Amino acid sequence: MLFTEEHEAFRQSVRGVLQREVAPHVEEWEEAEIFPAHQLFKALGAAGLFGLEYDPEFGGQGADHSYTVILGEELGRMGCAGVAMAISVQTDMATPSLHRFGSPELKKRYLEPAIRGEMVASIAVTEPDAGSDVAGIRTRAVRDGDEWVINGTKTFITNGTQADWLCLLARTGDEGGYRGMSQIVFPTSTPGFSVSRKLAKLGNHSSDTAELSFVDARVPIANTIGSIGRGFQQQMAQFQNERMIAAYTAVGSMDAALRRTAEYLRERQAFGEPLLSKQFIQFKLAELSAEVDMLRHYNYACAEAYMRGEDTTRFATIAKLKAGRLQREIGDWCLQFHGGMGYMAETWVSRYFRDGRLLSIGGGTDEVMLYVLSKLDGFTA
Ligand SMILES: Cc1cc2nc3c(=O)[nH]c(=O)nc-3n(C[C@H](O)[C@H](O)[C@H](O)COP(=O)(O)OP(=O)(O)OC[C@H]3O[C@@H](n4cnc5c(N)ncnc54)[C@H](O)[C@@H]3O)c2cc1C
Repeated sequence: MLFTEEHEAFRQSVRGVLQREVAPHVEEWEEAEIFPAHQLFKALGAAGLFGLEYDPEFGGQGADHSYTVILGEELGRMGCAGVAMAISVQTDMATPSLHRFGSPELKKRYLEPAIRGEMVASIAVTEPDAGSDVAGIRTRAVRDGDEWVINGTKTFITNGTQADWLCLLARTGDEGGYRGMSQIVFPTSTPGFSVSRKLAKLGNHSSDTAELSFVDARVPIANTIGSIGRGFQQQMAQFQNERMIAAYTAVGSMDAALRRTAEYLRERQAFGEPLLSKQFIQFKLAELSAEVDMLRHYNYACAEAYMRGEDTTRFATIAKLKAGRLQREIGDWCLQFHGGMGYMAETWVSRYFRDGRLLSIGGGTDEVMLYVLSKLDGFTA
């Protein structure tokens, strides 16, 4: 991956914006178990951080995917996984399908304001009875003239209490399994829609997660993203963006966590010297850092393949799987090296440990990554 001076300037500018707009509020937002999405997103939209790769005609920056890699790494480095996740839902999880397949009218109405940060978006796929098995979703959209009438429930939806619109996956045909689903832009102002519950979580406290209910909610057929009946396939493509940004973000966060831990150990004295003088600790940090570096370069290979227009399913699957596993390991070691302080709620590392657990679950679990990979690599009977 060739990073130029322009990339470096972009990295510094992203770091500066996040330092200014997010860092001072992290404790307050974590405590409140929500962050002001509209206020923050407007500031980030004005800074040009949303829609990096999107068409300038709709307010995007028209940049290539290498800039998304940098955005992800810096979101991770920021040290607040909840807000990082909320931002990447807006940039790389809820909007790629709309950009890729949406009609110009739909993009004008929903993508453009999302890029400006004036509308908050969510991706609504998971249901109480269907998570890993996306083909099992039951939320149904039935055609009535030029409208869809939608009934169902979605759960674990990030930004769910604050979203202005959802990229909703619903069943629009009678065919079962992977067929007969569509992606629909669903405005949350639609009568019949409600947030049934805001969910309390183990980590990522600053991010709101919700259960959503749809009762005879009507939206225009024209809100369908791309082709009716191709929703599953379009969502699978969108998942690749989700898994890529998750892996890029993980690298930034793990690198920062190892460095912060080393700083602590340089100061912390035991047995007459800094703990960082202990060879066991040095070697462990060095080895984990080497693993982060391997993942970073694997991510870069993935990004390059994506920029060449190749299918990055295998790259994204492996990157997401390894990132989830490594983040858990690094969270555990960093906490361990902080001793009792690591267990205290006031310490950044206890939050890092809790937050990091999500990566092996959200956006497809480790087991789902292995399921995809075993099929791709022919490890099936
Ligand atoms: C904080 C948070 C935020 C989220 N945000 C969103 C969001 O914004 N939008 C959205 O749509 N979803 C969101 N999700 C949902 C997330 O994508 C799902 O939780 C995830 O895909 C797993 O689905 P599930 O929870 O139903 O687990 P299940 O599918 O019930 O899986 C339970 C366990 O069984 C394992 N398993 C499943 N299938 C297999 C198999 N074939 N072989 C072996 N093991 C298997 C799983 O790996 C897991 O360990 C979020 C989740 C969390 C926790």
